[in-house]
Amino acid sequence: MLLDFLYPKPKVCPLCLKPMPKREFCQPCREFLNKARPVCQVCGRFLPTDYGICSDCRKKNFSFIKASGLLPYTGPVRQTMVFFKYKNKRYVWDELYDLLAWHCREKLGTKFDFVVPVPLHPRKFKERGYNQAEILAKNLAHRLQLPVKSNFLVKVRETPAQVQLGFKQRRKNLRESFYVTGRVTGREKVLLVDDVFTTGATAEECTHSLLLAGIAEVYVLTMATAVKK
Ligand SMILES: [Zn+2]
Ligand SMILES: [Zn+2]
Repeated sequence: MLLDFLYPKPKVCPLCLKPMPKREFCQPCREFLNKARPVCQVCGRFLPTDYGICSDCRKKNFSFIKASGLLPYTGPVRQTMVFFKYKNKRYVWDELYDLLAWHCREKLGTKFDFVVPVPLHPRKFKERGYNQAEILAKNLAHRLQLPVKSNFLVKVRETPAQVQLGFKQRRKNLRESFYVTGRVTGREKVLLVDDVFTTGATAEECTHSLLLAGIAEVYVLTMATAVKK
């Protein structure tokens, strides 16, 4: 591609960023990607052992139907997330989009009316210059031949950083910060896309807003998902 020529991507493993003869996954990362791991059947978080449904989902904390993430949010994934999200290296996950689309087909299916990225507040968008969730949503939707509605859900209230907070405080923080702008018939099945699923508070708050607006069903797909302790 012309863009690759103009802005050559570094010859590194796209996941751990180790130098490679060409841009390809190194052997340990290949194994990391192929490894089978137990996950919660509802929220998709990775589990230390296969006990089916996590404690949060047993308490029915979430109102989406099902969430799933391609990668565990650990080691090399956390590292590339920083590049993708904060350092304007929007290409870092280019090599993972085919896998993400495959993962979606396997775990959530493809029968969605449209794809909705988790929005950024306009001020943050201006600061960063892009919304990482929108980049994921577009790359995924293109492969699944689904429409993307980038401004269907908007963030209307700025919220403090939540890295140190648990699920309950995060939900409190996020309350009424998302707003649906599009028209809804009441039958829509929506795929919500974000970069990472940690406590699930953001996914849950977005789902809450979508359901309140009349969306029938929400599914959640992320590139990375936390490992449940
Ligand atoms: Zn690697
Ligand atoms: Zn769960």
